[in-house]
Amino acid sequence: MSTDIEPREHTELRAAVAALGRRHGPGFDRAALWAEAGKLGYLGVNLPEEYGGGGGGMAELSIVLEEAGAAGAPLLMMVVSPAICGTVISRFGTDGQKAAWLPGLADGTRTMAFGITEPDAGSNSHRITTTATRTEDGWVLNGRKVFVSGVDIADATLIVGRTSDARTGSLKACLFIVPRDTPGFGRRHIEMELDADEKQFELTLDDVHLPADALVGDEDAGLLQLFAGLNPERIMTAAFAIGMGRYALDRAVGYAKERQVWKAPIGSHQAVAHPLAQAHIELELARLMMQKAAKLYDAGDDLGAGEAANMAKYAAAEACVKAVDTAVHTLGGNGLTKEFGLARLVTASRVARIAPVSREMILNYVSIHSLGLPKSY
Ligand SMILES: Cc1cc2nc3c(=O)[nH]c(=O)nc-3n(C[C@H](O)[C@H](O)[C@H](O)COP(=O)(O)OP(=O)(O)OC[C@H]3O[C@@H](n4cnc5c(N)ncnc54)[C@H](O)[C@@H]3O)c2cc1C
Repeated sequence: MSTDIEPREHTELRAAVAALGRRHGPGFDRAALWAEAGKLGYLGVNLPEEYGGGGGGMAELSIVLEEAGAAGAPLLMMVVSPAICGTVISRFGTDGQKAAWLPGLADGTRTMAFGITEPDAGSNSHRITTTATRTEDGWVLNGRKVFVSGVDIADATLIVGRTSDARTGSLKACLFIVPRDTPGFGRRHIEMELDADEKQFELTLDDVHLPADALVGDEDAGLLQLFAGLNPERIMTAAFAIGMGRYALDRAVGYAKERQVWKAPIGSHQAVAHPLAQAHIELELARLMMQKAAKLYDAGDDLGAGEAANMAKYAAAEACVKAVDTAVHTLGGNGLTKEFGLARLVTASRVARIAPVSREMILNYVSIHSLGLPKSY
């Protein structure tokens, strides 16, 4: 992929992470790569320098995830730990929360999961019912979450709840750090058709008692704080998808150059070559939108970043699904063998189309907010 619209430091970061990713490669040991990437400063490249981070932003963090994925060694927890949780704590946490969490999130020795999705409030996060009630010395949380990734390997989960507002009876979104072994914080592994180390969990919060400093940020400024974390999540999901798409495409292109069943390699047939070329173009376009979203976010334009991050996530997911589908087909029967390892990406590539916000919800967002069309729901 050409990278010449990037500053030199970005190209160098890209090359360094690509080399690390290649050393670990497909079939990689997730924990070992996570530890090494953390030690080298890649996991915390977006976090403040005073807390051990690299002092960069989403532009740099998305490069790390994209290149690891392009080498066949994606690190899904980067989408939540440094990107959502690290960002929210850096922007809205107290000095104590920053000191407690950021150095570990930056060097990878600590990990934080993120739980917003609920069984009865999937795409409609305004309907979440996990409720935080104030006590004399802190909070009590009650509720349920689903599909939360990596809770077993995370030291804590940043849980999105609502405070019950005694005065008006309305509910407000707010964020709580819940350490993994807190009494009342239960988890059940949800079996997924995904070939990944990071598992998904259903969570139960049953009278989970938390100290006052478990609340991150202001209990009344919930949505603003939430979106400060959700835009990085979308940018990182785009990076995850572009990395996976590039990996699949590289494998297919390599195969198409070698495989010969008539007089020339199959890649010389345009029916094989054109879909690969199309996939390449669509991945490149998606990356441009991801770079725009990261640039706007890093410049502090949360509103502009919101639209671009949604569009980037949409474009990257669609490009990834198409690249994987094309790659599998290019390999013929080998596309479905375990040895070539591409068929497992068919399910994995669909994740970016569903999570963290589905394709349809992005189309709704663009219809309503970008085009001014009326809302149907
Ligand atoms: C592998 C994986 C990892 C995940 N990790 C996490 C995590 O770490 N933390 C977390 O909190 N969540 C996580 N999720 C959950 C994910 O964010 C949700 O699955 C996603 O937000 C969609 O919610 P849902 O599954 O309830 O689908 P639903 O909201 O039930 O949607 C089902 C379908 O209906 C469509 N739909 C819904 N409403 C509308 C509408 N108004 N207009 C048009 N179409 C509509 C959707 O587009 C979708 O196709 C993960 C999911 C997966 C698959």
